[in-house]
Amino acid sequence: MGWLGLDDTDSLKGGCTTEVLFRLLNDLPDDVSFRTPRLVRLWPFAKQRTRGNAAVAVELITENESELLIHLDKWWQQHVESLKGVLGTSDHSERTQYPADPGMIWTSESMTDEAFYKSAVSSEIELQNVPEVTRYWGGNGRIGATAAVLWPATQCTYEAIAWRSNEAEGRRQLDEVALAEVEDLKDTFLCRNPKLGTSLLAPRGNSPVLFGIRSWTKDGAQHALDILEQGNDTEPTKGSLVFQTNQATGDHLEVPVEAYVRSKSILKKGHVVLETTQGTWMAFRQSGHIALLSQWVIKGDLLIGNGLRDEDDVLHLELLKVKKSISEQKRPLCVRCNKSMKSMGKNQGLRCKRCNLTSDRGWVEVERIPPFQNWVQPPPSSRRHLSKPLQEK
Ligand SMILES: [Zn+2]
Repeated sequence: MGWLGLDDTDSLKGGCTTEVLFRLLNDLPDDVSFRTPRLVRLWPFAKQRTRGNAAVAVELITENESELLIHLDKWWQQHVESLKGVLGTSDHSERTQYPADPGMIWTSESMTDEAFYKSAVSSEIELQNVPEVTRYWGGNGRIGATAAVLWPATQCTYEAIAWRSNEAEGRRQLDEVALAEVEDLKDTFLCRNPKLGTSLLAPRGNSPVLFGIRSWTKDGAQHALDILEQGNDTEPTKGSLVFQTNQATGDHLEVPVEAYVRSKSILKKGHVVLETTQGTWMAFRQSGHIALLSQWVIKGDLLIGNGLRDEDDVLHLELLKVKKSISEQKRPLCVRCNKSMKSMGKNQGLRCKRCNLTSDRGWVEVERIPPFQNWVQPPPSSRRHLSKPLQEK
């Protein structure tokens, strides 16, 4: 018995750590069995992260650990070690790409370490700070591999993943009828981009993944997988697995923070920078309602927000709500006539045009009603894998 963790085997050129794990599980010796594998999303700002910043782990059951370790040694050398150093380039990402640096770990005991996992979803971790394990292979990928094993899984969702038989076959083929059926199932979520009407089940770009279906339950994931994999027009797969995952758990966030707006600047593309009493908050245009709401707020507004802080300590908003917005744009009403009073000139007070009553008050506070009065979050297509949807289906 023990746990295996694996990470950092893919690059923009292709590959996917889930697919490497799938092959590893297929190649296990006959006397080794496995429990539900895990797909664990980690800190999205990690310097050397892989595309989806996901690591995988699985519990293996065997009576003969030393033989399993010999097998894993060999498998690592034959299938994983050579992936080190593969570097892709991206046209749409300016961030420095790091070459893949795979890592694999084995621990004989069942371990959890909530604190380590929590840091791995919300901050940068250095390789030397990774807890000791029974055996390890490779480099930087050990960070994610260890975090995936140590995830306490106090809350979880599921994702069913199927891999393409032939990665080079071009456009992914999914049966339309089966696709619609899967999206309508009670337990599946984040299947479709409601704005564009496009499916979110198939990844874009170089990846051996044919589709991934998210579900609140394991049975729901398996059921949806069966429907889509067996759809008439769905292209052949080389296999599939249901993963237990920390997606949509909100594990990466602390409690929301309240802050007053000190200033606002709207950047060229519609991104918004808010200077607040709790540091700099950033709303990217892609964050949809969050960006719109951030453009609407004014100095002095009380907000409550949540998100991750990047390496420069800027909070990237993932959740936002306006608690109070006051403007001083209205003249007070005359207490006798109930008509709006008029200014008599700069610093001269106000006068009622009808009864000549004067007043020292310049403006009255008016509560502004925000365009969205509840919490808002980015649309599904630009939401983090870890983000918990505000509305469940
Ligand atoms: Zn009056």
